[in-house]
Amino acid sequence: MSLMRLAYASEATFEAKPVEKGVEPHVARILMTSRKNNARGKLVGGLYYGNNRFFQYLEGDEDEVRKTYDRILQDDRHRNVVTLIEEPVADRTFSNWSMKYVPLSRDVQRFLESQGLQKFEPASFTSAQCEQMIELIRNSSHDQKLVNHDEARTVRETPQAFSPGLKAGLIVAGLCLLGALFFAGSML
Ligand code: FAD
Repeated sequence: MSLMRLAYASEATFEAKPVEKGVEPHVARILMTSRKNNARGKLVGGLYYGNNRFFQYLEGDEDEVRKTYDRILQDDRHRNVVTLIEEPVADRTFSNWSMKYVPLSRDVQRFLESQGLQKFEPASFTSAQCEQMIELIRNSSHDQKLVNHDEARTVRETPQAFSPGLKAGLIVAGLCLLGALFFAGSML
């Protein structure tokens, strides 16, 4: 089975919404799907999102990488996809991550400054800059514990008839009432 690696840059088509739990909600959905599919296909890599741009790195079995990239290319949540790296590799270079996510972090800001770049524009990265981005992703310990926002909303919006505190209060009140009735009964 031959291994390959692939990196591309693209431009998001959605308007960024306020970050929830450290991740832009559209990106959170993309990550949910990616993690599910990439773990199944034993693909590893990372996704950077910032300045409305994506940089993604994928590594794994050639068939899986190509199948996944075909789906990614058809996704209308981004456009102007530019393939930056597409080549065979001898070994996997990432550990057991299905898809690392790193928001535009201080490390990337530092990297952009060191390159004299004003903005995150991965489509115009040189191959050396691509390698540095991949290295930043590889070394990043940053992980977002993601929840499905639809699920999170459902859970939050499910009306709770009684809070745990209120339940405890009602039990105590019930016991007091029973005690009072028992006491009143014994006095008659
Ligand atoms: P589905 O079950 O078809 O969809 C999963 C979820 O995504 C659903 O909630 C669905 O509503 C939503 N969704 C799908 N397409 C769209 C759309 N066009 N607009 C809005 N919501 C949509 N997929 C991977 O498997 N691995 C990756 O590494 C990966 N990286 C990506 C990086 C970027 C920048 C983008 C934009 C997409 C990426 N995707 C990736 C997603 C990929 O493009 C496909 O949407 C996905 O692979 C379809 O998989 P599925 O059939 O299992 O998901």
